[in-house]
Amino acid sequence: MNANKKELEVAALENGTVIDHIPSDQLFKVVSLLGLEKLNKSITIGNNLISKKIGKKGIIKIADTFFKEEEINKIALIAPNAKINIIKDYRVTEKRPVTLPDEIIGIIKCNNPKCITNNEPMKTVFYVINKDNVEVKCKYCERAVGKDEIEII
Ligand SMILES: [Zn+2]
Repeated sequence: MNANKKELEVAALENGTVIDHIPSDQLFKVVSLLGLEKLNKSITIGNNLISKKIGKKGIIKIADTFFKEEEINKIALIAPNAKINIIKDYRVTEKRPVTLPDEIIGIIKCNNPKCITNNEPMKTVFYVINKDNVEVKCKYCERAVGKDEIEII
């Protein structure tokens, strides 16, 4: 019964991408990280749904859109347990967790006020030094930034 209900929730999309298991308080950050507000496709957002795994969760369904892996993996910064479902012809053809990329360009703010990225109009670049525990390091000033300190621009 539960399994069927779950299938339905995901399968309602003919073609596209479903991002599941997003923590509720990060849902709208994920929306903005992926630039979904600029996307001219049908998008369904559910939030505060019950999840056994993470308490309350959010889910985003985006019709007729398939993201590049490095593009969608950015969300691992704020939703490390998110799952990506690729839907084709109403079927889940691929299901995978998000994994952090090796390098993150332009979305994390360096928390070193003296860093060049905070003083020049330029994009930040961070190397991911710990994928399991989410730790990144600024390319320019080498400041390491941990999971709880990451500030999204
Ligand atoms: Zn820096």
